Amino acid sequence: MIPTHPRFEKVKQSATDVIGTQAFELKQQGKSLVDFGIGEPFFNTPDHIKSAAKTAINNNITHYTPVGGLPVLKNAIINKLKRENNLTYGSSEVIVGVGAKQIIFNAFVATLMEDDEVIIPAPHWVSYPDMVLLAGAKPMILPTKAELGYGIEVDNLKRLMSDRVKWVIINSPSNPTGKVYSQQELEAIAKVLRKYPNTFILSDDIYEHVIFDKQAFCTLGQVAPDLKDRILLVNGVSKGYNMTGWRIGYGAGPEHLISALITLASQSTTNACSISQMAALAALEGPQDLHIKQRDYYQNLRDIFCSKLDTIPELDYVRSQGAFYMYVDCKKLIGKYTPKREKLTNDISVAHSLLHEAGVVVIPGSAFGSSPCFRVSLGVSKETLIEGCRRIKAYCMSLD
Ligand code: PLP
Repeated sequence: MIPTHPRFEKVKQSATDVIGTQAFELKQQGKSLVDFGIGEPFFNTPDHIKSAAKTAINNNITHYTPVGGLPVLKNAIINKLKRENNLTYGSSEVIVGVGAKQIIFNAFVATLMEDDEVIIPAPHWVSYPDMVLLAGAKPMILPTKAELGYGIEVDNLKRLMSDRVKWVIINSPSNPTGKVYSQQELEAIAKVLRKYPNTFILSDDIYEHVIFDKQAFCTLGQVAPDLKDRILLVNGVSKGYNMTGWRIGYGAGPEHLISALITLASQSTTNACSISQMAALAALEGPQDLHIKQRDYYQNLRDIFCSKLDTIPELDYVRSQGAFYMYVDCKKLIGKYTPKREKLTNDISVAHSLLHEAGVVVIPGSAFGSSPCFRVSLGVSKETLIEGCRRIKAYCMSLD
């Protein structure tokens, strides 16, 4: 067998996929499952966006586009960043990509060298550390605490910072905790970052439009305009407009970085799908009231979930402030036995037995770099949520 690059030995198949595959097989066998595993919005793509895609096909917008995106879409992104975030970007500072994921991955590939470090606050989105490893650099996990709402502690950030740090990641609202950073918190982080002029900052704003309790969204560039030439703002239409399958994300940052991303895309994927770009244009320029309806929906589910969890003494949680996830602490389950006399040794075994014994799919916290916990997605119907909570409670009561 001809070997692949040794880097692949360090990169594991994501726990999301492992649980997902087992869940898929159980579903095939006819088992009734409550699926809290999916990182998908509950809603479908709005009709006006679908119509725009159909029109694009009929108008033959089916050819290559400029690698960095159709100029009309780039303009819509520039307008959005001005309108919603009060940030000013020019066309050469914006790129459209195949989802936010491609922009982030390519930014790491374009900038990271061996021994470079990337600071990743944990719990973190599953892909960040593996992307860093694939780019040949070192993920530096910065743990955060549940009792502090999973926010970055500035002193801990200072301790990890050095000239070797090429990127610091900020993801607000966060997947998987729903942590939302306030203006003051971002200002305190910016104060540390100012001292390290060779460090980029990734502001992953993909859940911008899902924020609860009337909290305002704030992105780092707004509070620290002086850091603009080091910030890569990443956003997209996947979560806010229910367009995960269309694969459109975008990045806004310094021209030299965007230009490297365009070169990388031009030699790998070329442009993002032309039809999806026209759909994303309709999303950004069409009615925006869907965000309020969706936010209210997820907030209601969060409230129901928290009130149900309050009746399960074995589980603790931090009330999510945004995104559509809840991060549940299951340390009181560790060491207990299932009715089949299997000992729960970590959150992977909890997720495994929840799946097989209760028919509930959750993602173990180890995938997010913080254990023993599990993530529950609120991208489900109210009935599914209530049924899932009932099953989780019955499962917890069955342990001894
Ligand atoms: N960033 C975070 C925090 C995410 O949770 C996700 C998707 O789950 C992405 C980025 C990637 O989004 P996209 O679908 O636009 O690639």
